Amino acid sequence: MARVTLAPTGEEFFVGENEDILTAALHHGINLQYGCRHGNCSSCKHWLIDGDVDDSAASVYAIPRNEREDGAILLCCTFAKSDLEIEIHQHDGAETLPPMTPPSPRRATVLEVVSRTTNLVELRVSLDEPLSFRAGQYAEFTLDTGERRSYSLLSPPSAGNELTFCIKRVQNGAFTTVLDRLEPGSHLNLEAPFGTMFLRETARPVIAVGIGSGIAPLLSILSDAAEQDSDVPIRFYYGARTNSDLVYLDQLAELSTRLTDFQFIPCLSQGTPDTVPPNGRAGRVTRAIAEDIRDASVYDAYLCGAPEMCDAVGRLLEAKGLPEARIHADKFYPAVESASVSA
Ligand SMILES: Cc1cc2nc3c(=O)[nH]c(=O)nc-3n(C[C@H](O)[C@H](O)[C@H](O)COP(=O)(O)OP(=O)(O)OC[C@H]3O[C@@H](n4cnc5c(N)ncnc54)[C@H](O)[C@@H]3O)c2cc1C
Repeated sequence: MARVTLAPTGEEFFVGENEDILTAALHHGINLQYGCRHGNCSSCKHWLIDGDVDDSAASVYAIPRNEREDGAILLCCTFAKSDLEIEIHQHDGAETLPPMTPPSPRRATVLEVVSRTTNLVELRVSLDEPLSFRAGQYAEFTLDTGERRSYSLLSPPSAGNELTFCIKRVQNGAFTTVLDRLEPGSHLNLEAPFGTMFLRETARPVIAVGIGSGIAPLLSILSDAAEQDSDVPIRFYYGARTNSDLVYLDQLAELSTRLTDFQFIPCLSQGTPDTVPPNGRAGRVTRAIAEDIRDASVYDAYLCGAPEMCDAVGRLLEAKGLPEARIHADKFYPAVESASVSA
């Protein structure tokens, strides 16, 4: 066991030999900004002040060489070789995270597996014990091989023991293969909750942007906001290829009657003006946002799905005046590398 001390807060925790520093911190209830937990998104980049680490699991592309030489480490793929002191880096203007439930394991029993489109599958499970989480967080399923896959909770925290997920089928994917064999009564092991992409309690209006299965955490957030009688104005841009790729339209229509100021803007990348639904747009989400939003500085943004989309929308919003610290993204990085990924 090694002792880790965080600066400037002075928080301390212990990390086991085969445990990455982020996982240990989360299990000790320490709140840190992080994202994918696979060394891809760099959200958990902080600075080693003192001590020895093994950070060889981090991709050489995840941290620029000069930053690595200055002590930058990704907590999710760094292991302690001695007691450590780590300086926690916060974006300028980033708020302090509220207390979050430490992740813990659960056994899930499958209730239903339903194809929503040719690509998207809804998985409903019931947990052996209740789970406390924030809308927008995710769970990690552990496969028999020991591999882990992250899936955002689509259901709001009020759903109790019953969790819903929206999962994109990936050809020959490890979890996709398991998913295709699941039937009611099958068992799965998961650990939750993870993630820091939940609705911040500010009075600022919200731009939510998702594509494909990226709708999952946003639906959880929207449902929870409706249950909390939130009056925050929300614009939700949802990207899909065609009408038949749009999912959860009934749920979104119902939410629009309960949320005081809610706009749903479906964006069809292969749509034409005569095929898009009411309030919808032909083209990608980036095009609709570029056309609609002149000044983004007043918003908070929540982006979910393919990393490329999150990065493109993030850059666009920053160019329109939104500070980076107010752009919250859940980038659906795959756990194993591929040439190109879309949600
Ligand atoms: C924080 C977080 C939340 C996530 N939430 C969701 C969610 O709610 N719903 C969801 O569907 N996914 C989500 N993902 C992605 C998910 O964790 C898996 O990466 C994805 O489902 C692929 O898993 P797999 O085991 O089926 O395929 P793998 O065995 O991981 O991959 C097989 C091959 O396909 C490639 N690949 C993986 N994903 C894609 C893709 N999207 N497009 C093209 N090629 C791909 C891999 O690189 C690999 O070469 C999330 C990821 C993160 C980090």
